[in-house]
Amino acid sequence: PDGVIVKALSGYYYVKPLENGKAVGSAEAVQCRARGIFKKRGTSPLVGDHVVYSLTENGEGMVDEIKPRRSELIRPPVANAELAVLLFSVREPDLNLSLLDKFLVHIEHSGLETIICLTKQDLLAADTDAQDPVMAVKELYERIGYEVLVTSSRSGLGSSELKERLTGVISVFSGQSGVGKSSLLNRLVPGLSLETSAISMRLGRGKHTTRHVELIELDNGGFVADTPGFSQLDFLELGVEELSTCFREFAPYAELCKFRGCSHTHEPGCKVIEAKESGDIASSRYEHYVQFYTEMKEKKRRY
Ligand code: GDP
Ligand code: ZN
Repeated sequence: PDGVIVKALSGYYYVKPLENGKAVGSAEAVQCRARGIFKKRGTSPLVGDHVVYSLTENGEGMVDEIKPRRSELIRPPVANAELAVLLFSVREPDLNLSLLDKFLVHIEHSGLETIICLTKQDLLAADTDAQDPVMAVKELYERIGYEVLVTSSRSGLGSSELKERLTGVISVFSGQSGVGKSSLLNRLVPGLSLETSAISMRLGRGKHTTRHVELIELDNGGFVADTPGFSQLDFLELGVEELSTCFREFAPYAELCKFRGCSHTHEPGCKVIEAKESGDIASSRYEHYVQFYTEMKEKKRRY
């Protein structure tokens, strides 16, 4: 039969049966080994893979075939993800736009669709002064072309919109510890009870020390990979000359730059710099570009 790998642990793959490409809600995952042939070919099954498996005598199964992948992430190791949900809390911890832009660079590079999810909106409810800056951030990223949702696990704001967007796809939830990822997932998935806790209580306990990826099944055919994810990624897989293409709003200006291979950091007549100066490119975005560019250059020099 066909199935989807929902968990990989200690050499076993846990495969949920699929019927017509849809997970069979009630069916238990089958514990499977993988055929030796995959290793010989230098590939191995990943969480998210659509596979063909067969049942063996002992109630276990064997992964016989991996269907072609539509996407493949290395960190976290997930196949067939279509959507990345980037979680950033508006408070506790404060919005970190440099980190947001860093996540976005990686997503652009991976080719996944993106939703920026601004969590804990209720913490702004009593503080009208703090609301405008958050709305400005929302507008900034929407203007660039990203989808932005504002959510609160306390009030339930935005959770049905978010769930709707997860229908029938594998999505990867990513965010720093403490942004409210577990709380949000608990809201989205009936019966799920991931542990949630204040940051201070979590220190030293290593909530995220388990690195294995697991897909959480929604009741709408969607799966969510809950993972510490992109938060610690560096830029090693990305060439410095590719960086500007990961800032999607730079493209129409970068095309017009006079110098081939313009780095957009100092060149005279650089159209990206002009666009930053006229306000067509947000200065925070441009500053983060330069910051990452410098980081990447320095890394290269060291190795
Ligand atoms: P995770 O580390 O991203 O999984 O975050 P948790 O879901 O464990 O939440 C971290 C802390 O933030 C906990 O103390 C939660 O109670 C709190 N929290 C999570 N979501 C919200 C929210 O929408 N509003 C408020 N006020 N607090 C939240
Ligand atoms: Zn330029």
